[in-house]
Amino acid sequence: MCCEAQFLQRLRERGLRLTPQREMVLRALHEVDSHATAEEIYARVSVQSSAVDLSTVYRTVELLQDLRLLSTIERADGQRAYELIGVHGPHHHLQCRRCGRLSRIEPEAVQPLIETLRQRYGFAAEPDHLVIAGLCEACREREAQEAQSAA
Ligand SMILES: [Zn+2]
Ligand SMILES: [Zn+2]
Ligand SMILES: [Zn+2]
Repeated sequence: MCCEAQFLQRLRERGLRLTPQREMVLRALHEVDSHATAEEIYARVSVQSSAVDLSTVYRTVELLQDLRLLSTIERADGQRAYELIGVHGPHHHLQCRRCGRLSRIEPEAVQPLIETLRQRYGFAAEPDHLVIAGLCEACREREAQEAQSAA
């Protein structure tokens, strides 16, 4: 696992150990292809072992977040979801306010915004995980159709 050495080192700095439970949560986070909630991580881990309960998963994701190994996102349903920074690399998201769909965009997509902030406000923005709310293409079409049929 790519993040294990980093996790181990940051745990050591705090005088903590890499317990089998913590390792299982880390492994499960590697298996998901996008942000997963604590319940989803728990569902994966519980197939392999009964030694991990949901509260252990919650504590471990909080710890990973503290150690700056996880990025988090709030889903449309209000649930928190987590993603390993080391696995998914730098990126941002577009989140549809209507259907909740979360899509991923490359960091270059916000480069013009970073330039504008530097030039106009003298601010050097260093966004590491932006979530931009709006309407996805499908929902934009749906809203346009609704507006038409309402007219
Ligand atoms: Zn990793
Ligand atoms: Zn993300
Ligand atoms: Zn949508």
